[in-house]
Amino acid sequence: METHVLEAMARGGFERVVALHDRRSGLRGFLAVHDTSVGPAFGGIRRWSYRGEGEALRDCMRLARAMTQKCALADLPAGGGKLVLLDLPDVDWERAYEYVGGIVEEHAGRFFTGPDLGTGERELGWVARRTAFVARPGPEGPGELAEATAEGVFAGIAAALRHADGEEDWPRRRVVLQGVGEVGRRLALRLRRAGARVAAADVDARRARAAARALDLDVVDPSRELELPCDVFAPCALGGILHDLSIERLRCRIVAGAANNVLARAAHAERLHARGILYVPDFVINSGALVRGALFQLQGRREPLERIGAGIGATVTELLERARLQQAPPARVAAIEARRRVELRRAAMRPALRGADEGP
Ligand code: NAD
Repeated sequence: METHVLEAMARGGFERVVALHDRRSGLRGFLAVHDTSVGPAFGGIRRWSYRGEGEALRDCMRLARAMTQKCALADLPAGGGKLVLLDLPDVDWERAYEYVGGIVEEHAGRFFTGPDLGTGERELGWVARRTAFVARPGPEGPGELAEATAEGVFAGIAAALRHADGEEDWPRRRVVLQGVGEVGRRLALRLRRAGARVAAADVDARRARAAARALDLDVVDPSRELELPCDVFAPCALGGILHDLSIERLRCRIVAGAANNVLARAAHAERLHARGILYVPDFVINSGALVRGALFQLQGRREPLERIGAGIGATVTELLERARLQQAPPARVAAIEARRRVELRRAAMRPALRGADEGP
């Protein structure tokens, strides 16, 4: 299938899409910068085994655009970007990540990067050899990013329960977690502390068993995770898991989790709505790491977890209320609001840019 990159960029309002190839390490990948109209772009580094470069490019662009939406809804003076690396055999990864650091450095602060699937502390350390525009692990950095994400998702789930039933009532709740990795297990801890029952599924069975032992969770076979009756299904693994077939299998009342791009297509929000399932959009609920990373890079402050949770909880409450009034799916309402804010910001910047172009 032919890929019309320029057309896709124009339609999606992208500023820059770069194809990366490093002869020394064998790295192949893409960088997408979606929006820097009000501040630098933020986006992590995803390393994944894609079926082909077309899929990797589409994922890169989708994720970068979602970051712009996240920034707009979190009121951050920043935009979205993303780096996607093809997880191919025979790549010298240490050199590859150093090379990526060089690419980030070339953007001179217009693009900040950090962790994502396949990129953890070790890899970020390699990136940091070439650039300071990366979230550093350890005491020099913004603090635990997965903690911030889990805190925001927990607050968002609480807000969704209050919206649906008027109260959280944790001891009566059952939550099914898909994925107990960095965010999933931190979310499980919060849910268990609050008193909810939690069932966890992970394709890595050892990881699932370890989390279950440590946190007293029920372990679920990943093939059954979608159809377990529960209050909340929390996707904390990969994107694209809710599509025509899987949505029909759901037996939950609320979908709210950390995974990016949970819906295979935006239209699936309508199907969830029609089925009476409250879907809290990923780009609203999972912005904790972005908030923490961006505030640290832009203002040098370490945002406390409680404030991150309170902010995301309030945004989710407001969004769900607005969606109820409009009788529309929250994802549609959130996407329209994000677009409105981005357009406003771009329009506000235009006179300044025109002035600069005209010169003295
Ligand atoms: P992770 O790799 O640490 O954990 C993902 C877990 O999901 C792994 O344990 C994996 O085995 C499991 N998994 C994969 N496919 C599965 C399936 N079909 N069923 C059950 N389990 C499955 O990743 P993470 O950092 O915890 O991130 C989870 C999701 O949240 C990702 O989509 C990521 O993009 C998103 N996210 C993460 C952050 C963050 O701060 N880490 C921030 C925003 C969004």
